[in-house]
Amino acid sequence: MPYFIDVILPLPLQKRFTYTISEAEANFLEKGMRVAVPFGKSKVYTAITAAIHQNPPQVYEAKPINQILDKTPLVTKHQLKFWAWIASYYMCAEGDVLKAALPGAFLLESESIVQLTKDANIEEAELEDEEYLVIEALQRQSSVKIQEVMKILDKKNVLPIINALVQKGLVVLNQEIYEQYKPKKIRYVRLNPDYDNEVKMHQLLDELEKAPKQKEALLSFFSIKAQHKKPLKVKDLSDKSGVSAAIIKSLIKKGILEEYYEKTDRVAFSGEASQMGIQLSELQQKAFSEIEAGLQEQDVCLFHGITSSGKTEIYIKLIEKIIENGQQALYVLPEIALTTQLIERLRAYFGDKVLVYHSKYSVNERVEVYRHILEDSEKARIVIGARSSIFLPFANLGLVVIDEEHETSFKQFDPAPRYHARDAAIVLANFFKAKTVLGSATPSLESYFNAKHHKYAFVELNRRYGDVLEPEIEIVDIKTKYKKKEMKGHFSDKMLAEIKETLDGGEQVILFQNRRGFSPVLECNTCGHSPQCPNCDVSLTYHSHNNQLRCHYCGYHIAMQKKCMACDSSEVTTKGFGTEQIETELKTIFPDYKTARMDQDTTRGKYAYEKLINAFEQQEIDILIGTQMLTKGLDFRKVNLVGIMNADNLLNFPDFRAHERSFQLMLQVAGRAGRTKKRGKVLIQSYNPHHQIIQQVSMGDYAGMYKDQLEERYNYKYPPFYRLIRITLKCRDYSKTNDGADWLATGMKNVFKENVLGPEFPPVARIRNEYYKNILLKIPQQQSLGKTKELLQRIMESFKAIGAFRSVKVVINVDPI
Ligand code: ADP
Ligand code: ZN
Ligand code: ZN
Repeated sequence: MPYFIDVILPLPLQKRFTYTISEAEANFLEKGMRVAVPFGKSKVYTAITAAIHQNPPQVYEAKPINQILDKTPLVTKHQLKFWAWIASYYMCAEGDVLKAALPGAFLLESESIVQLTKDANIEEAELEDEEYLVIEALQRQSSVKIQEVMKILDKKNVLPIINALVQKGLVVLNQEIYEQYKPKKIRYVRLNPDYDNEVKMHQLLDELEKAPKQKEALLSFFSIKAQHKKPLKVKDLSDKSGVSAAIIKSLIKKGILEEYYEKTDRVAFSGEASQMGIQLSELQQKAFSEIEAGLQEQDVCLFHGITSSGKTEIYIKLIEKIIENGQQALYVLPEIALTTQLIERLRAYFGDKVLVYHSKYSVNERVEVYRHILEDSEKARIVIGARSSIFLPFANLGLVVIDEEHETSFKQFDPAPRYHARDAAIVLANFFKAKTVLGSATPSLESYFNAKHHKYAFVELNRRYGDVLEPEIEIVDIKTKYKKKEMKGHFSDKMLAEIKETLDGGEQVILFQNRRGFSPVLECNTCGHSPQCPNCDVSLTYHSHNNQLRCHYCGYHIAMQKKCMACDSSEVTTKGFGTEQIETELKTIFPDYKTARMDQDTTRGKYAYEKLINAFEQQEIDILIGTQMLTKGLDFRKVNLVGIMNADNLLNFPDFRAHERSFQLMLQVAGRAGRTKKRGKVLIQSYNPHHQIIQQVSMGDYAGMYKDQLEERYNYKYPPFYRLIRITLKCRDYSKTNDGADWLATGMKNVFKENVLGPEFPPVARIRNEYYKNILLKIPQQQSLGKTKELLQRIMESFKAIGAFRSVKVVINVDPI
């Protein structure tokens, strides 16, 4: 009897593929091992063994595999089960899931490109002959394709050789080489507290009569500190006083000035905590016990704790118990917040039991992390990662923490699998009979609904840690302010006064401006024309720093226009405002202070985001202006004022989640204020100060917001009452997009009746010269989800069979956000 295996290929195929294997191979192979297989005319892929059996395929003759690539399974049974669930629930191919789930280095294929690792330490004596030939080729040319390696070695089965070289760290695949980001340390000086009284100070100054330079340096120190209360860098002291670094050094040696590092202080602080153990406050302890009790009864607990209530410390305590039990814990958080901040806190507490899984890590690092987890090693007790970390090969998962569970970035948008990491993590945890904690200061409506309906356990914590008060939130009516001429640019007099007071006190300011659709566009005052992108249906936005008009969807750009392109009038103005304009205005109002922007433009470069955070932590920046990136759970100690420049453009976004989203964004950004002793302040500028959501934000009234929004969702048939599937058609041909969408919508309406909405063009209906059209399917609670998807799949198959629509791409998004 012949033997067969079904494999998952890293391709968007609807089915698994079957290959033949020998009896010896059948005896050796296990599910989850990699095999190299031929596919198509001449390609070779790495595939994952998903089943071993003796049933030949019906419609094609199975080809033999090229070879087995692993000695033990690389993919666990849980993972295979999980992938199958994701593919079925999110209606995509298992191959799509495979590609999202495994580090690229595990998936060598004939098209992969191999390069030498930078600074590779090549010990020729330790190389096998064939390995040596590959290395030698790479020393002559900078990169080779696997296909070329096959020619060089004159054989097909080369993947094991490349795999070995990757494992030895000598070659890398398809990748640039990433460097680790190390925040630079900055030296500060302060006065030794011993001299902090007048008598001592006078004595000291008398003593320094004999050292005039040192005295001068000290006097400069005082005069600088009198102007700015913020920490003083050694370098700034020497620049501003004109005294050499050597003189400052001698003051430090004498113990008059002290030198310190802001950065290491933070670590040392948490380091201390680890020696003493974290002492939960009484309220934290209560929440901790309630979560534990809740998880006895239920698999998921929603933890609603206000900003700065110390949720992280409670997670740490929960994790501690899990690892004492010998189990693994997974801590998932939105990508952007994967900063040094949280990692440092966890490492300080758990030492080298913490692994981080990060898309910015190099291939080799990701492979290493993967293997540690697969082997259930001592280093893999706790894994921190963004959404893709749910795909890691856990052996022994006991707890999943989803931090900031309301964040929409947990949902993958493109490419497939379009999964929601929070929802998928709950399923994953179930496979292990593990528990899940969802934490947020502003839970998603869906999770809160589940908690209120006793699907999840529910725990609240309504006090900030250390009796810090919640920030005081004040609303500024800018309609009136404009009328009374109390605005300067986009700033109310109130906002400017508060900024000044905060800066004078040596503290920092965060200003929030929503990015969405509100960057400035150019408009002609005569004919109303504004320059459009030729590839997308959007106006170009104005970027002052390079004097360009740019498209945010495709990157198309032209020089700023002085005259209207339609009517030649020179009466053109910019309308709307973005972060850049705010920064420009601020710089003229507060020229002595340092401002910086955090948005997509300024965080694009490698580690740009980390550098900004670090500079802000070290008070090298006084005012940080940013978009939603600012809201993500950051913990800055010196921010005392948060300003929301314009609440209205958030609220007016055409989406059923816009109000919930606005509430979450505003309350989260407000939560960055006053996280230490002093009470923080938040100012919200708005044209509609009486808007229900703004009122609810100002009172921190989550329950009120929930009640209102839930009613709307009920009335208009949206989640959590109905489930949604969005189907998007894309095509460069306008009429095919329309016809295809009509055909599909009609087919769906025959089956699902009035629960099909559209087809409709989205707000931006053309991107990179492709037209978009959406159809929305609403699924009532009593309707079977599995059945619905099956029917939808069938309609999809008929659609794909129509020749005229071959060029129309269809994207299915289950539970779209
Ligand atoms: P949240 O995640 O709820 O917004 P954090 O966990 O960031 O809040 O806590 C806010 C601040 O309070 C942090 O700086 C944290 O170190 C501190 N903190 C919270 N709980 C404790 C504790 N039990 N002991 C010491 N510091 C704590
Ligand atoms: Zn014009
Ligand atoms: Zn464009």
